[in-house]
Amino acid sequence: MSRGPADRGEAVPQTDPELFHVDQDAVAADATTRADGATATLDRSAHLAGAQTALLRCDELVAGYVPGVNILNGCDLFVNEGELVGIIGPNGAGKSTLLKAMFGLVTVRGGKVTLRGEDITGLKAHALVRKGVGFVPQTENVFPSLTIEENLQMGVYQDPRRFRERFEFVAGLFPALADRRRQRAGSLSGGERQMVAMGRALMMEPSVIFLDEPSAGLSPALQDEVFIRVRHINRAGVSVVMVEQNARRCLQICDRGYVLDQGRNAYTASGADLANDPKVVELYLGTLAKAR
Ligand code: ADP
Ligand code: MG
Repeated sequence: MSRGPADRGEAVPQTDPELFHVDQDAVAADATTRADGATATLDRSAHLAGAQTALLRCDELVAGYVPGVNILNGCDLFVNEGELVGIIGPNGAGKSTLLKAMFGLVTVRGGKVTLRGEDITGLKAHALVRKGVGFVPQTENVFPSLTIEENLQMGVYQDPRRFRERFEFVAGLFPALADRRRQRAGSLSGGERQMVAMGRALMMEPSVIFLDEPSAGLSPALQDEVFIRVRHINRAGVSVVMVEQNARRCLQICDRGYVLDQGRNAYTASGADLANDPKVVELYLGTLAKAR
């Protein structure tokens, strides 16, 4: 199998600049201005209608790191039971911040996160894991000095008795992990580590998992492998919210997608409709899309 720069330990750019060329004038022209002066690019009515029976939703989420600076400026998102939802958008749009805000890792300053009708805004990560929410961060998502098996044990530390049963489930999805359970995670390739990280997040039997750029830094062949695995996870009954820099590939596999730009929803539709929307292609899928 050909190995990419990440596998050789070289630095890889997170995003192809060509892929996410943003024409700010076009974004502004497409925006509508709300009475309060805030700019929104999306009518909320479709969100409000669609999110009614959602498993998880966030409404008008405002969040940031530094006092007085909001990174999310009113994000809406929902995921239905069994859905695979993708989030794409330029670097710095706030995609990771959105996942972290939903997972209690960034302070939410406004808006709401709801799981099965229960307000979970601001709950801490361990409480969310208990409620069936899983999160795989983009980086540092495994314990390198621990074995694969120990990493998976960490996933179930709140309820260690479940280890055996859940290990079976994860091994069913990722047989290679079971075969190599005594190997240290630090000695694995990038693609294998990603499987360990996803496996760990699946140990508490989540109903929904958030994945932050699972294919980042992997060779094309391993990226494909990751996308296939994500679909398997989803087909096994786990709802998925996936942030991806590999936008076109993400839209190919997701049921619905969101384009995030400057902390706001820019577009949302089915993955196929987004991938074929001329504006989305022009603004967010760039020259690579035209060369297709
Ligand atoms: P994306 O995932 O879409 O590339 P991020 O959510 O990582 O974007 O970042 C959105 C913005 O938030 C960027 O301007 C980034 O500099 C800022 N940001 C991200 N993480 C932090 C942090 N820990 N502290 C302060 N600012 C941050
Ligand atoms: Mg990010």
